[in-house]
Amino acid sequence: MRVLCTSCNSKAIIGKTDRISSAHANLYCSCSDPECGHTFVVNVSFSHTLSPSAKSSSQLVKQLVNAMSPDHRLQLQRELNLL
Ligand SMILES: [Zn+2]
Repeated sequence: MRVLCTSCNSKAIIGKTDRISSAHANLYCSCSDPECGHTFVVNVSFSHTLSPSAKSSSQLVKQLVNAMSPDHRLQLQRELNLL
């Protein structure tokens, strides 16, 4: 990821990353131009999902199967074996 100085548009150097959560981080940046010397913090945040994680959808299926009665589970198993 490239961060530009907000004062002079030169390339900035990311010194430290403060991970607030899996969806948010603060990047402590300093301008690479010694004549500028601007230091600043950039926020990086999760915006939105384009395609859901395969992990969360398989977890959802497991929870649904666990909520089924044993009879329904057997019926589903038979139907899946026919595919
Ligand atoms: Zn600068």
